[in-house]
Amino acid sequence: MSYQHVFNDGSVCDLPVGKVVCVGRNYVDHIKELDNPMPTEPILFIKPATSLQPISQPIVIPDFTTDCHNETELSVLIGKKISKAGREEVKDAVAGYGVALDLTLRDIQAQLKKKGLPWEKAKAFDGSCPISPFIGPDALANPQDTQLKLVVNGAVRQNESTRLMINPIFDLIAYMTGFFTLLPGDIVLTGTPAGVAGLKSGDRLELTLDGRFDFSTSVA
Ligand code: ZN
Repeated sequence: MSYQHVFNDGSVCDLPVGKVVCVGRNYVDHIKELDNPMPTEPILFIKPATSLQPISQPIVIPDFTTDCHNETELSVLIGKKISKAGREEVKDAVAGYGVALDLTLRDIQAQLKKKGLPWEKAKAFDGSCPISPFIGPDALANPQDTQLKLVVNGAVRQNESTRLMINPIFDLIAYMTGFFTLLPGDIVLTGTPAGVAGLKSGDRLELTLDGRFDFSTSVA
């Protein structure tokens, strides 16, 4: 199925679909739950456009893993080209916010990490970034203090405020643009809070952003 950015009010988003720039280890409680060292600077990686799929589309777990984890993250839609940008320029370039799953094959990632190899097989596979429709930048009172919640089969699995990010949204994106130019239609994922765990066929997922924007999906 092809993917196109959409807004939550049903209006069409005419931005092209580009890359997804992500950060690893941006919440202290998640770093602790995986027993990872505290990073001295943001750990960046990229998911390709082929990782994107509408949140409502069922998640397909690849056949080469036995441990596909949820990572619920605030997503940011970029509306303007930004390169080596400061935080004000970044703020002005945001076209919307949403919620996304940075699906991660934890078994594959552990093997790659042990060998010092890149993470793409674990994080950049087709459909590895289910993403919600976007909410206009003014619709969130404070993107830096908004609740990210994931309920799996009726049980709360992730529920944390974006206030607890180590690198705040605009500073993080400014940092990213020091390495990668962001183009209109690119996406930024801002890291996961604690509560990552394995998903299995038949799971029902409910994601809520800001306590009022609800999205649901399932695992095929
Ligand atoms: Zn992540």
